[in-house]
Formats: sequence, C-alpha cells, structure tokens
Amino acid sequence: MSKEAEGLDMDNFNIELVLDFISNNLEQVGIGFFILIAFVSTRKKRKQSKLAKEKWQKTVEKNLNEPISLHPKINKALCTGCTACVKACPEGEILQIIDHKAFLVHPSKCVGHGACEAACPMGGIDLVFGTKTRGMEIPRITPEYETNVAGLYIAGELGGMGLIRNATKQGTLAIDDAVKKLKKTTQTDVDVFIVGSGPAGFAAALNCAKNNVSYVCIDQNSFGGTIFNFPKKKIVTSHPIELPLAGPKKFKRNVVQKEEILDFFEEVKKKFKIKIQEKESFKGLSGKDQNFKITTSKGSYTAKKVLLCMGLRGSPRKLGLENEDTKKVMYNLLDPEEFQNAHIAIVGGGNAALESAQYLARKQYKNTITLLVRDSKDDGFARALEDNQKLVYDLEQQGLLNISFHSSISKINETSILIKKLDDEIELKNDYIFVFAGAEMPHKFLMSLGIEIDKAHGEIRGKKLAS
Ligand SMILES: Cc1cc2nc3c(=O)[nH]c(=O)nc-3n(C[C@H](O)[C@H](O)[C@H](O)COP(=O)(O)OP(=O)(O)OC[C@H]3O[C@@H](n4cnc5c(N)ncnc54)[C@H](O)[C@@H]3O)c2cc1C
Repeated sequence: MSKEAEGLDMDNFNIELVLDFISNNLEQVGIGFFILIAFVSTRKKRKQSKLAKEKWQKTVEKNLNEPISLHPKINKALCTGCTACVKACPEGEILQIIDHKAFLVHPSKCVGHGACEAACPMGGIDLVFGTKTRGMEIPRITPEYETNVAGLYIAGELGGMGLIRNATKQGTLAIDDAVKKLKKTTQTDVDVFIVGSGPAGFAAALNCAKNNVSYVCIDQNSFGGTIFNFPKKKIVTSHPIELPLAGPKKFKRNVVQKEEILDFFEEVKKKFKIKIQEKESFKGLSGKDQNFKITTSKGSYTAKKVLLCMGLRGSPRKLGLENEDTKKVMYNLLDPEEFQNAHIAIVGGGNAALESAQYLARKQYKNTITLLVRDSKDDGFARALEDNQKLVYDLEQQGLLNISFHSSISKINETSILIKKLDDEIELKNDYIFVFAGAEMPHKFLMSLGIEIDKAHGEIRGKKLAS
C-alpha cells in the first residue's frame, strides 16, 4: 500500500484529501471498484438464481413442469447465461437463469413465441415439441415443412405451432421449398394448391405471387382464418410479422386490434392482387408429387404441390355431452354485444376463456357469468397470462362474474345446466355455454391423406424461425 493510502485519516474526512488519495492511487482504486462491481453483480446473480430455483420447485410441486406445445430447448454447452433470451420473452419471467444457464422455469406458460430463439446470440436455443417424458403427437414434417408424402406440405397451427407470426413464417418457408422443387414437366391446373387463408395460407399465397408461381388458395370460411373469428376488437399480441412482397409489419408495443390486423391483411391482399376462394372446403386428394388431384366442395383441381394451412379451430375439443350440438353451445365468441341479459357459462381456464369472460362480463351487458374451471384455484389458470388472471379476479370482486373451480358441466338442458363441483351437483340457469377447451388435432383426416403422425420427444425439427 502507498504512503498516501496509509496516510488517509478517516476521522478527519475531507473531500479534497479523498480526491487527492484517489488521484494518487488510481490503479488500486480502479481494481477495488472493479472487484466491488463484480462482487455486487455475483451476489445479485446468485440471489436471482436462488429465486428461480424456488420458482421451479413450485412449478414441479404444482405438476406444471411439462410444456404444452412448442417451447425452447436450451443447449447448455452454448448458453453463456447472457440473459438475452430472458429479456426477449414477451410472456414475462418464463425463462430465467439458474447456475449461469437459461432455464424454462414456467414451461406450461410458454406459447412458443420463439423470441428467445431469435435473441440468443450463440444460436443455443431451438424450438421443440414434447419432452423426453411427455411426447406430443404432431404430423411428421421435414425442416422445410414437407410431410412424409412428397410434395404435400403443412404450415401453421396444423403443424402444432401457434401464433400469427410463426404461421406466416412457416407458410413462407414451405413455399420457398415447394418452389425450388417444382418441375415444369407435368401439366396441372396450378403449381401450388393452398388450403386455408389464415396467416399461414395468406403468407403462402403471397410467396407464390412473389415467385411468379400459379396457385389456388381456398378457405372453407373467411379470409383471415382464426383472426377473423376473434371477438370484436380483441387485442392481439404479436411481435413483428413478415409477409412476402409486403415486408415486415411492426405493431406498436407488439399489440394490435383484431380489426387493424385484418385491415392490414386486406390491404396487402388488394395491393398484390391475391385471390382467395372463400366458402370452398378441401375434401381430399389423390395422385402424387408433381401431379396431385384435389377435391373440394366446389370441384376438383390438379396441382404439383399442396400446402395444408388448415389450423386447428375446425376441430375444437368438445365436452362430449348430450345436447352439446344445440345452438346454445359455442366454441368461439365473435360479437359479445349479441349476448345481453343472459345466463352464460364459460368453460376453461386458458386465455381464450378468460378473455371471453372479460368481454361478456361488461357491466352494460347485464349478464350473469359463471366461469367453470376444472382444476383447483392453484392450477386452474396456470396456463393463462397473469394480466388475464388479474382481470377476471377483479371482475369477480366487482360482482360481475363468478369463478367456480373444481367444476365441470355434467348435463346440458334447454334452460339450465348441471355443474359437478367436487362431490356436489348444482343446477344453474343457463342460456349459453362457451367452451374453450382447446382443439383436437385432425389426426385421422391427415392420416387418411397418408401423412404419418409422430410422437415428438423434444427433437429439433423445422428451421429456426429466427433465420
Ligand atoms: C382465442 C384465441 C386468441 C389468440 N390470440 C393470439 C394472439 O394474441 N397472438 C397470436 O399471435 N396468436 C393468437 N392466437 C393464435 C393464432 O390465431 C393462430 O396461431 C393462427 O391464426 C394460426 O394460423 P394458421 O394460418 O395456421 O391457421 P388459422 O388462422 O386457424 O387458419 C386456418 C384456416 O383454414 C381454414 N380451413 C380449415 N379447414 C379447411 C378445409 N377443410 N378446407 C378449406 N379451408 C379450411 C379455416 O377456415 C381457417 O380460415 C389466438 C388464437 C385463439 C383461438
């Protein structure tokens, strides 16, 4: 230690003396400062790691440690614990750092945004389906989105991956591959046949137009797919999406209203003269790569390549009860205004159920709403966003809806329903039932086309969406 350092008299503290001391001992002060910063940062990281471990422990105790669908698989050898993925996740603290490595602390809340994959500077994150312990059934597709039937592709939610941004990306990538493999030797009505005009199908049609490839795009309902069926003015969260020809589209704070997103799609459709044949449904196909014969509700076509972008909403998971096929039971909510002064049961604890509950419980509609959640209070909303959970609890406090955990419908009558709640059976007045219990994969239909269904156990499939 220098003489000056030894001579610093702390009893007679004087700022000039301190400055003098610092300037005469710059090297030591610098090292000391560096050590202090490193010490504070290590302590902070250790504390955060400890908290993350506690959260993971709770996740395991609640049996919520298996991801529902697409989720990140972290390559520990590449992960530097830089936190880029943690900060990038739009769903909050799903990913955290444990012992200097990224860790999926809340797997069941992951919806597969893929922002973590894009943010990782080391390329150490892949998006995968299923885990070693829990397999997930999904159609077999190559990294280019081609199924085991050569020339037949699947993109978007039908392939198991939700979200608008992912669907548009996949529709685009599938066409990139199909175009590369097109052979001009056979004569067909069109080069590419696209089923579905949601985000995946629309991006695919645009990519065909961009590549000067002829196409037909049909939809059994309306242009826009699931987005078209969102409730009026629904707030959609989405990171920037990229459409061929139109380029990237950012949304302020990654939030946009349903109508705005549909207007944007409509504008792009018009600008690039994209043709969508609505109210025409796909029935099946025969033939093979470079010469498929497609049958629809309106006729038949031949095409060299076929892309299925049918989503999953056509097959909502049902309750399996008598009278479920009556008009009072619905699987999506289009216009909340149509439901007023009514007794309404909403089944489900996910985001779709919680958002619908918020729309229908608006004071001016004067509805009596019961939200029926199969699981306990601890687990029932585990897959929903925290904001949505908070909003429905607030509505319950205001007396605008009732939340009933451990509850399911056991009987549907014309003007009432029977609720099974643990060992009790309760009768409730009822005019409408909204069921939000997810969707069934149309496996049988896909298998009838020759597509094989795999059980995924966390293997890396598909191209990185970030690329
Ligand atoms: C309530 C709810 C809220 C959501 N909120 C968000 C959100 O905030 N942000 C986000 O990014 N994502 C959200 N999603 C998910 C998103 O909507 C989907 O991931 C996305 O629309 C999938 O796109 P897709 O093109 O694969 O399928 P879809 O959009 O489902 O489109 C499929 C199309 O195929 C058509 N089709 C089906 N079968 C046939 C057939 N046999 N013949 C012809 N046509 C057929 C359908 O009519 C439909 O138009 C939400 C979903 C739901 C249900």
